[in-house]
Amino acid sequence: MVALEDLQAADWRSLELVCARMFSMSGDEVELTSFGPDGGVDIICSRENFTFGVQCKRERQKISPTAVREFVGSLAAWDLKWGVFVTTGQFRREVYGEFGERDFLRLVDGGKLIEALRWFAPGDQEEITSDLFEDPLWDAPTCCNCGVKMVPAKIYERDEPYWECCNAHADPGCSVRMPGTAFEIHDRHREFFA
Ligand SMILES: [Zn+2]
Repeated sequence: MVALEDLQAADWRSLELVCARMFSMSGDEVELTSFGPDGGVDIICSRENFTFGVQCKRERQKISPTAVREFVGSLAAWDLKWGVFVTTGQFRREVYGEFGERDFLRLVDGGKLIEALRWFAPGDQEEITSDLFEDPLWDAPTCCNCGVKMVPAKIYERDEPYWECCNAHADPGCSVRMPGTAFEIHDRHREFFA
């Protein structure tokens, strides 16, 4: 059974998929927006005549009011009246002060996210989180440009591991890189591409 720590270790795309499946299995029509770790609105959900935007933020730290304000701005830009901000972390107290009583916005922190997940039958929970267990690269980052997984590479002169896009050596190549420290590089990530 998936734990909050697993969701915190998952990359942004895996987390988006988990959230999208949760809404989908609750009966919503879901649409993932274009790739990008911070495009504001990650998922658009529709239920009868009710449409809302969702942002999923993989975060161990506390979410600031600025991040929530930005999301509210994105909702307006997408012409959405309602929103759900999901994080694997927590919200700072000021966020509840500013947004806690607003009808158009739901704040879901890591604790509530796990609680929501537990409402599903065990088999459904497994399906919702299937990426986290079946994909050996579930906790490897996803390229914000291409939406494909990134792979460990190394700057040999300095012996510093970093992540490069699977399309780094394609033509035309993708130049998105991420420092190794941003996501822990495990041996199984290397083995997968050996
Ligand atoms: Zn890429």
